Order: sequence, then C-alpha cells, then structure tokens
Amino acid sequence: MPQPTVTVHDKTFELFIAEEEIQKKVEELGSSLSQNLKDTKPLFIGILNGAFMFASDLMKAVNIPAEITFMKVTSYQGMETTGQTKELIGLNDSVKGRDIVVVEDIVDTGITMESIVDQLKNLGAKSIEVASLLLKPDCLQRDVEVKYTGFEIPEKFVVGYGLDYDGLGRNLKDIYQLKHE
Ligand code: 5GP
Repeated sequence: MPQPTVTVHDKTFELFIAEEEIQKKVEELGSSLSQNLKDTKPLFIGILNGAFMFASDLMKAVNIPAEITFMKVTSYQGMETTGQTKELIGLNDSVKGRDIVVVEDIVDTGITMESIVDQLKNLGAKSIEVASLLLKPDCLQRDVEVKYTGFEIPEKFVVGYGLDYDGLGRNLKDIYQLKHE
C-alpha cells in the first residue's frame, strides 16, 4: 500500500496517482503506440531526467520493433524563465527520416515540448509524436499536440515516478501532489 503522504525536503505531498493506476495507464499507452506504429520501427526519445521511469516502463509495454535513446534539454545560460530556446543535449542518434516518439514526464506550459519538436523537425525527422505521462491542460501556453497522454491533471506541483522536487522524490513509485496547508 502506498503511503498517504510523503515529505520531500520541507514540503508535504499527498498521494495522487497510485502505482497500480500508473502501470495500467502505461500498458494502455504502450498498446496504442504498438498498434499505431507497427509498420514504422519508431525511435523513442526519452527526455532526462524526469522521464526515465516512464520511458522504461513504456518500452516494456511496447511490443513492436522500436529503438530508444535519451537526451536532456536545458535552457541556454542567461535566458531565464520564458527561455524559449532550449538546447538538446546528448542526442547521438540520427533522427533524419525517422518516426519519432518523444517521451516526456509532464507537459506544463508546453514551452519545452514546442522547442523539442521544432528542433527535431529541423533535424529532418519524418514524423514526431509526443507521449507524456502527465499534462496540465490549464497551464498550456503553446499549441503542442500530445497525442498520447496518461493523465490530465490540475495546476498543482507533483512529484514521484521520475518527477522531482529539487532533486528528491524521483524514486517514489506513486505520484504525489503538493499539499496545501
Ligand atoms: P514546460 O516547458 O511544459 O512548462 O515544462 C515542462 C517541465 O517542467 C517538465 O519537464 C518538468 O521538468 C517541469 N515541471 C512542470 N510541472 C511540474 C510538476 O508538477 N512537477 C515537477 N516535478 N516538475 C514539473
């Protein structure tokens, strides 16, 4: 049984999405992806660090020939908050002519995902689809299509299952939401 609340650093979080529910959803997403992409030998690109756990479970739920690689995304130094220019780091695999599935933990404003998709397009990807475990629809500021969404969630900070609060909490099996006292 998951713990009803956890403390990460100085903050209390309450149980939001339990492991069992997450795993069920990941299985469903894996089945849809397998069905829709069965003729394409897709390249999955997991966005580090947050998506490492989701990407790992999702790949186990995909039952067609598929490759996976990982990359990081950062803002350029000196360009803060809105920083629309994100740098793709560590992408060693060629995306030219490939059918890409970007695997992300959460899409919030969509600024990060828009930047990723634009750059992969420029690198010559044949098609780009997005799979995000979580989506905050009320926060979206960009027109990004998240074709495969696990859960739509309200505008509240979450941790667990790969997502961190200041470096901690990624190892939680369940997803927790910030508790407002
Ligand atoms: P966006 O560019 O869509 O606003 O931001 C996406 C990134 O913000 C995510 O990859 C994640 O790193 C971070 N983020 C947004 N909302 C949350 C949240 O509720 N919890 C955590 N841990 N990170 C979040």
